[in-house]
Amino acid sequence: MSAVEIAAKVRSGEWSAVDVLEGHLEAISAREDEIHAFNLVMVEQARRAAAAVDDAVASGRDPGPLAGVPLALKDNMCTHGVPTTCSSRILDDWKPPYDATVVTRAVEAGAVVIGKTNLDEFAMGSSTEHSAFGPTLNPHDTTRVPGGSSGGSAAAVAAGFSSLALGSDTGGSIRQPAALCGVVGVKPTYGLVSRYGLVAFASSLDQIGPFATSVADAALMLEVIAGHDPMDSTSIPRPSPDISSHLDQGVEGMRIGLVTELMEGIDPDVSARVHQAAEALTAAGAVVDEVSVPATLYGLTAYYLIAPAEASSNLARFDGVRYGLRVDGPDTAEMMIRTRSAGFGDEVKARIMLGTFALSAGYYEAFYGKAQKVRTLVRREFAAAYADHDLLLSPTSPSVAFPLGAKADPMSMYMCDVCTLPSNLSGEAAMSVPYGTGAHGLPVGVQVLAPAMGEVEMFRAAAVLEAAAPSDHDGEEGRS
Ligand code: GLN
Repeated sequence: MSAVEIAAKVRSGEWSAVDVLEGHLEAISAREDEIHAFNLVMVEQARRAAAAVDDAVASGRDPGPLAGVPLALKDNMCTHGVPTTCSSRILDDWKPPYDATVVTRAVEAGAVVIGKTNLDEFAMGSSTEHSAFGPTLNPHDTTRVPGGSSGGSAAAVAAGFSSLALGSDTGGSIRQPAALCGVVGVKPTYGLVSRYGLVAFASSLDQIGPFATSVADAALMLEVIAGHDPMDSTSIPRPSPDISSHLDQGVEGMRIGLVTELMEGIDPDVSARVHQAAEALTAAGAVVDEVSVPATLYGLTAYYLIAPAEASSNLARFDGVRYGLRVDGPDTAEMMIRTRSAGFGDEVKARIMLGTFALSAGYYEAFYGKAQKVRTLVRREFAAAYADHDLLLSPTSPSVAFPLGAKADPMSMYMCDVCTLPSNLSGEAAMSVPYGTGAHGLPVGVQVLAPAMGEVEMFRAAAVLEAAAPSDHDGEEGRS
């Protein structure tokens, strides 16, 4: 259900936030057992929050731009007094003593937090199969994955459990599940949205962003959470941008580059949709050409050194002393070993070991140092591409949603992020927009990439694509 519409009607008193919430809770009762989007549905808290929104309207106060809009939070965002698990056993029973900044801002804007969504443990994965609490399934086909790591948030929005959701994107974890579930997903410019209260995975890459069923809803959500936060030292000292009022400005005269290297090795059903999207942008007045950004091909290798290196440091804090699980031992060192052995899943352990190795004396320059050089190269080549392009275009994911268990080999799973992670390495903005269907009638996402702080132009192109997107029936032409 549209967040823009809910907020407008709740603010005007036409709809009650409690009714809106109950409608979503019914959708959850009907299908959540099958989908498993949530680690926790916050029924009572949500009912109180919705009632408070209705009270505000009744007494003539404006609850804010997200009045009564149900919002699902990836379960790696801190919620005061509410378990925050990162879908890991190591955080067993941990309840944060504070809210993440994004949560505070959303709630102050009138959003109704409906629950905490499932993820790959500590956001490491592309399928939401690596959760300590079991996988989330794709609402379009429950034999398939929803993508990841924010698979629960994507599935919650796609299934109509929540109007909006927040996820985190370190290498593609918002955009890839958005593509696989047929919803809009945005990774904002690094620093645009505060990461205070987001459990860190790879701090130089992590960014929070929205999931929504429309481009306008995603813009509204982003406007609420963006803007400077003194609690995050990497937060850009600027106010939140106005995106919504520019959405209908089109792409007339914009120069948009289709990234050659990101079209290689892509399933033909997906690349066909990306070419159609390029044609739709041309028809709307943009000048679309091909642009080569060769370093994007090395991005994957660099990412899988930098992200585990940062993770190995960030996850050192889960030692059985400060948070969650503790497995006792004869001495402190043994207690820590037992706790971490029992608390982390295999993928997390593999990343911690890889990251520790890449940072160790004698290997640091060969691995981590080299990866940082590739990162610089990616940044430079993007800058060169943006010197004569306003935006870039690519697939979001190389394929549509794949069956559970299909990518048991880690390398094949890592390949899912080949199109998304370059924007994390460069710190620039990118989003996925649903663009028709591919194999098996499953959703395809097209990725729009923008330079840092290029959100307004990016959303304008996304709005054009949304309007031109082919309807659900395979092969059918655009609505335009
Ligand atoms: N799939 C990527 C990984 O496993 C990206 C995850 C993310 O963006 N959080 O690291």
